[in-house]
Amino acid sequence: MAAAPAAAGPARRTGGLDTISGRTRLTGIIGDPVAHSLSPRLHNAAFAALGLDMVYVPLHVKAADLPAAVAGLRALGFRGANVTIPHKTAVVPLLDELGDDAACMEAVNTIVVRRDGRLTGENTDVAGVHDAVAAAAAAAGRRLAGGRALLLGAGGAARAAALALARLDLALTVANRTVAAAERLAALLSAAVPGGACEVRALDDLGAADVRAADVVVNATSLGMEGHGKVPACVVDNLTAGQVVADMVYTPRETELLAAARRRGATTVDGLEVLVRQAAASFALWTGRDAPVDVMRDAVEQG
Ligand code: NAP
Repeated sequence: MAAAPAAAGPARRTGGLDTISGRTRLTGIIGDPVAHSLSPRLHNAAFAALGLDMVYVPLHVKAADLPAAVAGLRALGFRGANVTIPHKTAVVPLLDELGDDAACMEAVNTIVVRRDGRLTGENTDVAGVHDAVAAAAAAAGRRLAGGRALLLGAGGAARAAALALARLDLALTVANRTVAAAERLAALLSAAVPGGACEVRALDDLGAADVRAADVVVNATSLGMEGHGKVPACVVDNLTAGQVVADMVYTPRETELLAAARRRGATTVDGLEVLVRQAAASFALWTGRDAPVDVMRDAVEQG
């Protein structure tokens, strides 16, 4: 569903309180915690770059307050909001309708408040992975369609990545610590993309051949994040030059997985690029305008 274009106001200085008026349209991010989020920085930079009279604020919302907060978006005249940990699934029944990707994945990261007050849930994490991987592959002259992807994880990020990889016409192997979660992901995917191939594996059972056979490797576990354990050595040690290797984790920006991929000559996609691409898709839904992706990237790189 296309969003109505937002009114362009006078050019605004980045983030200055003096630019906010009674006409300023509000957006934000609902999460717990939310103080660490990079999204206010990149959206406010993008609004300023396009001269849009809009602002994006962090909204710290506990689980018990989620229904009131979501209803409050409508009551307060918000244009929309992002939704992050731990609310992406819990928010689904609070919305009036879901876009296709959100319905497929039973998870929402973007709410659009329609002119009539209806709340639409979208999942732009799918576009984030899709657009970041497709752009990196195109820049490196690599053809993905008809190839294989190895996806690590079966949580929220992995669901989005699975749909994105299937849309890129890649046959999937999903490997996860909890095999039942990977099976649930495979069932969602086969309902969403009929005919899309998806094998399920235990993360511990992955072998060198599984890794070498992949054209695309995506880490969508929290492994590799500071203090969260390591991606299995079997994966890190068997990356090859012909692959596109993406990591959803963005703290640190260059994870051990990406560093190994870079050393072996693979094409790499970091978690900040995925974050920027999902933000660009949310921005387009709220404003009806193409996002200034370079401005968003610069904003997070300066952080
Ligand atoms: P989630 O729903 O909690 O899923 C976590 C995943 O990591 C599950 O597959 C889980 O396996 C696995 N995992 C956690 N600890 C593990 C361990 N010790 N050993 C093996 N597997 C383990 O989280 P999420 O929302 O999908 O987020 C995953 C990562 O992606 C986070 O680092 C998050 O910051 C990042 N992310 C990035 C973006 C972006 O735009 N770049 C967007 C969304 C998320 P089990 O099923 O066995 O528990």
